[in-house]
Amino acid sequence: MKLCPNCGTQNADHFTQCPNCGTILPAAAPQPVYSGGTNGYVPPAYQAAPVTTAGGWFGWSLLCGILPIIGALIMMSSAKDPSAKNFAKAMIIVQAVTFVLSALCSTTLRTVLQSVVENM
Ligand SMILES: [Zn+2]
Repeated sequence: MKLCPNCGTQNADHFTQCPNCGTILPAAAPQPVYSGGTNGYVPPAYQAAPVTTAGGWFGWSLLCGILPIIGALIMMSSAKDPSAKNFAKAMIIVQAVTFVLSALCSTTLRTVLQSVVENM
């Protein structure tokens, strides 16, 4: 609404002259126009977590199978997916435990076999 500065009549915004007293009405104050700006706020770019594909897992599994511990170390240092890094850490522990257990078992087995052979 435009308020007439002379008589105080409220006039519609599109009126340029007061219908009551004939005073020329001032131009309406410009309405704030949304320009599509962001007022300086820039949303952070969405970064999806890297995902290891089935082919990627196949490659890592193959590497870990062929090169125990070393393969997992390579995987831990070069995998981009945090889950793959965690898997590599777990793989190093599993393979280290397996190595120790198999060493113990083979030692025990050799001792048992030796005693069997000596007693024959
Ligand atoms: Zn007026």
